[in-house]
Amino acid sequence: MVVDSQAVSAVPVEHVDDLQAYAESVAGCTRCRLSQGRTQVVFGSGNPRADLMFVGEAPGFHEDKQGLPFVGQAGKLLEKLLGQIGLQRSDVFVANVLKCRPPGNRDPQPDEIEQCESHLFRQIELIEPMVVATLGNFATKLLSGRPLGITRVHGQEQATTIGGRNVLLYPLYHPAAALYTPAMLKVLESDFARLPQLLGGALEPAAPPEPELKLVAAQEAAATEQLGLF
Ligand code: URA
Repeated sequence: MVVDSQAVSAVPVEHVDDLQAYAESVAGCTRCRLSQGRTQVVFGSGNPRADLMFVGEAPGFHEDKQGLPFVGQAGKLLEKLLGQIGLQRSDVFVANVLKCRPPGNRDPQPDEIEQCESHLFRQIELIEPMVVATLGNFATKLLSGRPLGITRVHGQEQATTIGGRNVLLYPLYHPAAALYTPAMLKVLESDFARLPQLLGGALEPAAPPEPELKLVAAQEAAATEQLGLF
């Protein structure tokens, strides 16, 4: 199931149909080696006309089994963060850079990202979000087209064009990284708190993070990046 039924009542039927049709066409994808080990393609889920879309890294064990993104602990945190800004999962669309689980949850490989990226671009084209929030390094680097890591760019919105459409890219720490690092969670919460303003179209420059938080977060994120996690 791709489309959240709570979210579709006011959505033009052709939009839902196009996204659903695209999901069905991707369900048998064999473009890369990940098709051999997956249980199923995890296309994404939520509101097919969401103004706000999240892009994570790749399905994990539970996502691969259930066919839905962010169903584990990181997903619970994402839902909590959404709740803090008055949103539910059915208000947004959630997808990943890779649609299939890498074995043992290893990092996505460059050729896998290359083979899969057009699925993500097409999703963005069909959903037409105003804001695309990238969760962690892989989504941020892919959609920004720049090598700068999440530690450098989190919380700094950037106008860009994806799939021929102007969107606001908003890099955030990955919730899985923030689960075990309280300082990173604080930064993620404060970055999240700006989302309503960004969705309202008020594109003010991002306020620099507090120096102390920035330092701790940078140290922890550097350690996380060294481990190659996010
Ligand atoms: N679950 C997902 O679907 N994506 C991630 O990046 C992490 C957990």
